[in-house]
Amino acid sequence: MTDSPPLDTSIERVEDVLAGATDASARLGELDPGERGELLVAVADALEVAAADLLPVAARETHLPDRRLEGELARTTHQLRLFAEVLAEGSYLEATIDTADPRSVPTPRPDLRRVLVPVGPVLVFAASNFPFAFSVAGGDTASALAAGCPVVLKAHPGHPGLSALTGEVVTEALTAAGGPEGTFAVVTGVDKGRIALLDSRIRAVAFTGSLSAGRALFDLAMSRETPIPFYGELGSLNPVFVTPGAAERRAAEIADGYVNSFTLGVGQFCTKPGLLFLPAGSSVLDRLAELVRAVPYGEMLNDRIRRAYTRTLSDLAAVQGVRTVVDAADGEEGPVVGPTLLAADVPALLADPDAMLTECFGPTSIVVEYEDTDQLVAAADAFAGSLTATVHGEPDEGGLVDELLATMRDRAGRIIWNGWPTGVAVAWAMHHGGPYPATTAPLHTSVGATAIRRFLRPVSYQGVPQQLLPKALQDRNHLHIMRRVNGSLTTADVPAGT
Ligand code: NAP
Repeated sequence: MTDSPPLDTSIERVEDVLAGATDASARLGELDPGERGELLVAVADALEVAAADLLPVAARETHLPDRRLEGELARTTHQLRLFAEVLAEGSYLEATIDTADPRSVPTPRPDLRRVLVPVGPVLVFAASNFPFAFSVAGGDTASALAAGCPVVLKAHPGHPGLSALTGEVVTEALTAAGGPEGTFAVVTGVDKGRIALLDSRIRAVAFTGSLSAGRALFDLAMSRETPIPFYGELGSLNPVFVTPGAAERRAAEIADGYVNSFTLGVGQFCTKPGLLFLPAGSSVLDRLAELVRAVPYGEMLNDRIRRAYTRTLSDLAAVQGVRTVVDAADGEEGPVVGPTLLAADVPALLADPDAMLTECFGPTSIVVEYEDTDQLVAAADAFAGSLTATVHGEPDEGGLVDELLATMRDRAGRIIWNGWPTGVAVAWAMHHGGPYPATTAPLHTSVGATAIRRFLRPVSYQGVPQQLLPKALQDRNHLHIMRRVNGSLTTADVPAGT
């Protein structure tokens, strides 16, 4: 293995990678789900074996602490293994069988069998802020491979050496486990990402990063002669609404939780709470300044992110009606950054929502005070799409919390009650998505078991003989999976003569 940063991928190599992914596509898709699961487990095992090589490079390139990186690597291997379980369980295929019914009204029904099939080679743009879990071997890669799609991975330049090393580990593990050649490859260079995206052999794209870059790449994907699905996870504000009852009864707990959540990882999480709504004059606010001042300074991921943060923060602090409660610049030294706390009120937010409702990626958040609950609901209504929305409320505040939850249900992908949005569990029921601008594809998630659905396309087979059907749709349930047969879920074979 080498850990020196690679040069940008040559055009010739990009062509080889695209041709290899295309060649691998049919063979990878034809493997039984269980066989693809074994490939994913092999990658997870290999990452664990290589941890001692990977972790120091990650620490050097991202400035993230060792414990965080170790935890993130464990999350990455867990993610790969979860998708192996998803494949073994099999319901992700949505295998559905309607046997022929000559008595069906208004017209006789032919034999119809529907299943999900891989879309083909997927281009993944790795994120900067999770060098393992949303990068080379991260969730997008794991879910695309699980679906049966070869992956062309555009590495993030924020951790080039780690991307190259991880790419080698993944490719070698797939090859050793019998994966088709060309199943996975890493490319580098901003223009190479665009070239791959515009190539007709790429059938879907996954992206995690900024709104501006994500939108530009989405537009490029739609401009192709054959547009393709673009699953972009972009910016998110993750508002937290604290009701009068919660502010009165749990002031200390809420202040602690909020400061911890918005400063965690130097604020470099897509789920960082960007705004906290408090009743005017709440004692929560009294505690915040003191807690924020006690947070240790930290180094951001890279200069590009730090420059973007400083720029956005100064724009935000200059918005009419925004005041600075704690100014990190007071104690800042060298490349480290401290938390900044801003404050405003609801009338200021509603006077210029676009200016204040802007993601500031880093350790900054705005406390917004409301005079009455009408103002709180009006503020909630001003939000566009967000990955999360959090309500801190009390059981006896029914009408208000119902209204907040309903308003945010229409705007967010995950609703949190009396908790905090940072921390995204990799689980079957997780949804990490939301309406634009949180994502470009609000019907889907980039985390959790159903992330695989992004890379699968439904096909119905009508009147096709048994031996020509995919295994998942034959009368005999070869894969032992849950299927819907004539309307009912079952793992049984389709009875003869049905
Ligand atoms: P970025 O600037 O959005 O870049 C992400 C990826 O897209 C990189 O691989 C980049 O390639 C590529 N890219 C960007 N513009 C492109 C273009 N016009 N054509 C082709 N490829 C392009 O993300 P970042 O560097 O990680 O962070 C910048 C900002 O993104 C942060 O300050 C933050 O606001 C936001 N961010 C959001 C999330 C989230 O989860 N929502 C996560 C991380 C960052 P090159 O780097 O090679 O140019």
